[in-house]
Amino acid sequence: MYLGVLIGRSVDVTMVYEAAVEKMERRVSTFMPMQSRHDMAGRVRLANVYLLTIFSYLFRFFLMSEATSRRVLKSLKRWLIRGTVTNMARLTAPTHLLGLATPLKDLATLNMAALLRYREAIPNPVMSGDYSMLVEDHVEHAAISYVSITGSAFPPLSAQALLMENLLHSDGTAMGRLARTFSARMKRHGRDVQVKPLLSNIASNALRLPAKLKPELRNHLFNIVHQCVFTNHRARNYGTTLACEFCGHHQEDLQHLFIDCVVAREAIDAMRCHRGPLFREAAKFLASAKLGDYLFETRGLKVMHMRFLLSFSLAIWKTRRFYRVALGATPPP
Ligand SMILES: [Zn+2]
Repeated sequence: MYLGVLIGRSVDVTMVYEAAVEKMERRVSTFMPMQSRHDMAGRVRLANVYLLTIFSYLFRFFLMSEATSRRVLKSLKRWLIRGTVTNMARLTAPTHLLGLATPLKDLATLNMAALLRYREAIPNPVMSGDYSMLVEDHVEHAAISYVSITGSAFPPLSAQALLMENLLHSDGTAMGRLARTFSARMKRHGRDVQVKPLLSNIASNALRLPAKLKPELRNHLFNIVHQCVFTNHRARNYGTTLACEFCGHHQEDLQHLFIDCVVAREAIDAMRCHRGPLFREAAKFLASAKLGDYLFETRGLKVMHMRFLLSFSLAIWKTRRFYRVALGATPPP
């Protein structure tokens, strides 16, 4: 699929973007000292607002060359991704495909939508072999990309937001990437699990939750299904302590944190005695929930139960983080 980024004689466009790219690289450098103070969702939000907006003006007139696009992505990646915990494709995945509550804006899509906003209709866009610095040429290229992604002509005189929406909802590559993410996860899981059913369980379970889930829960869901929850057991290669932040148990992994830890058990007990019937119902379900439920691998989970699981594991995770930051990492006696 042709994705808007021009190939070939793109030296001029690369030069047009040069100053903006340099500005962004400088800004990333000033951001770096505060990288560890923001979580992934926070870094993505900052990138959307303070880094990608540097190109807003140029995006309306020129498609980025491949060289420019590579450079921008490299710089974005430096700010967004620490280690190998996730990748850029997952961060740009739309919310309705297990992306973050506010996904990273995809460069090519943003560029295309900006170029086509409020433009007249182009009846029969043709890809000219010769590529110039004429804005009309760039619009035409963007129109061709739009058609190839959405399967329909771009609606003339449309707002950028609408164009983005159309592009994101008909771009099949996001779904393909999701499948690859899950199959990579399966390979890590081990040999004895049936790959296909488990894979489709995770995807269908998690996708059943509405896209309009509370942002914090949506981001937590992202971390759960892509397995980026950094328990001490998971972070062991970074030289941190292995022990549970709450009780000092020797292996702090998800099984321990959400199910076995005394803190999780006591939280469920407290919910059992709560006045609200919803809390009592949640307690009843969570009391016998398995790790596979928390990871959305169990077939036939109800949406209500998925909400229970997600809210509970987020509550535990947040309390743990508070405990770790505010009270120090020393386990109680
Ligand atoms: Zn514990």
